[in-house]
Amino acid sequence: TLTESTTGTQQGTVVDGPALWSAQAQMPSILGRQLVIERGEGSYIFTAEGRRLFDGTAGLWHANVGHSHPELAQAAYDQMLKLETYHVFQRYANDRAIELGERLAAISPIERAKAILNSGGSDAIDVACKLARRHWQREGRGSKQIILSREHSYHGLHAYGTSIAGLDFNREGMGTDSLVPETARVSFDDIAQVEATILSIGAESIAAIVSEPIQGTGGVNPPAPGYLEGLQRLAREHDILLIVDEVITGFGRTGEWFASQRYGLEPDMVTFAKGVTSGYAPLGGVLVAPRLWEPFYVDDAATPIFRHGATYAGHATAAAVAIANLDVIERDGLVPRVRELEQVLRRELDALQQRSEAVVDVRVAGFLGGISLDERLDNARVSDRAVELGFITRPLRGNTLQLSPPFIVSDQEVVDYVAAIEQAITEEA
Ligand code: PLP
Repeated sequence: TLTESTTGTQQGTVVDGPALWSAQAQMPSILGRQLVIERGEGSYIFTAEGRRLFDGTAGLWHANVGHSHPELAQAAYDQMLKLETYHVFQRYANDRAIELGERLAAISPIERAKAILNSGGSDAIDVACKLARRHWQREGRGSKQIILSREHSYHGLHAYGTSIAGLDFNREGMGTDSLVPETARVSFDDIAQVEATILSIGAESIAAIVSEPIQGTGGVNPPAPGYLEGLQRLAREHDILLIVDEVITGFGRTGEWFASQRYGLEPDMVTFAKGVTSGYAPLGGVLVAPRLWEPFYVDDAATPIFRHGATYAGHATAAAVAIANLDVIERDGLVPRVRELEQVLRRELDALQQRSEAVVDVRVAGFLGGISLDERLDNARVSDRAVELGFITRPLRGNTLQLSPPFIVSDQEVVDYVAAIEQAITEEA
């Protein structure tokens, strides 16, 4: 429906639509053409009109075991009939949150890790940044407050994630450079420049450095050779905490449980979300190294409290779903399967780049792919065309298309997916 704007300074015709205000959308441009997804089945989703689409991005990189998995649905149902949840404040806990903590510690890249649970990746980043600052306060080094992050990085959209992201547009119109005090950006591929930034700020002011192992939203950017190892070395040399954001890469996406294992990292904290439940329940969290948690566990009345928590931290049904998801990934051998799928995707994308002049770069790390298009093409239009052909891909920074299918696809489905994207590119060129 159309009405005249009666409020605010923006005059013009208002296009009204459903009461749901969508995320990250220029609203008038999506109304009337929303893709309303009603049903999922394995690697496919179905629109309200009954169109079947190959979910080549696994939603927002989350549906790793595919959609509508009966075992995960059953786990949620069984748990809710028994106990929907009970909070984990003070001396209360619930059995499923405790069990999930053990499961996560067992596969964590951090030895003897503790797990803080919450509702998603943005949450996890807020907790990790707060704990980093809390750590240095407790150590009597409260001047260490700055959180460093990389150019092009994405860490969700809570206050910390919005502030530390290397994608400036997410701070547009918020009034300041940063919603929280003390953040700074470092080079995303040049470790010598990172060191120069640390030296110019001064390590005595820096709490932590946060990095995705493979940048996702920033355009599917695998690390430059030696970059992550260099970050770890600098963090150690300058006594800066290393936070690895594995919200996309965790739980098998790179052919290991965590990308930290693939790249030989020993972070102080690992943030996770998405793949922990394959998206079947909103759950995220932080794996924490002994260096950080032990001081909060000292048997002494003066031992401090980490003042953080939320009603849904350690939600029992979300935890039960996560446990079922980990069971499926283990039983079906999906982590080693990702290593095979990585090879197939690499082969197909390399061949695509050879054939297509419109493709200027392809990047693969784990079962994550990015295709960068020539500037004459618009990745949003190519992505829309691919949807018309029945295949989901997503436009990202750097005129890139995202490819990150569920782990359950066949080799042939990867081949067909890349062929469909090639067709979309050719038709738009
Ligand atoms: N960190 C990274 C690396 C992400 O890719 C995302 C989401 O895409 C987040 C954090 C935020 O996670 P969520 O959307 O679950 O809050």
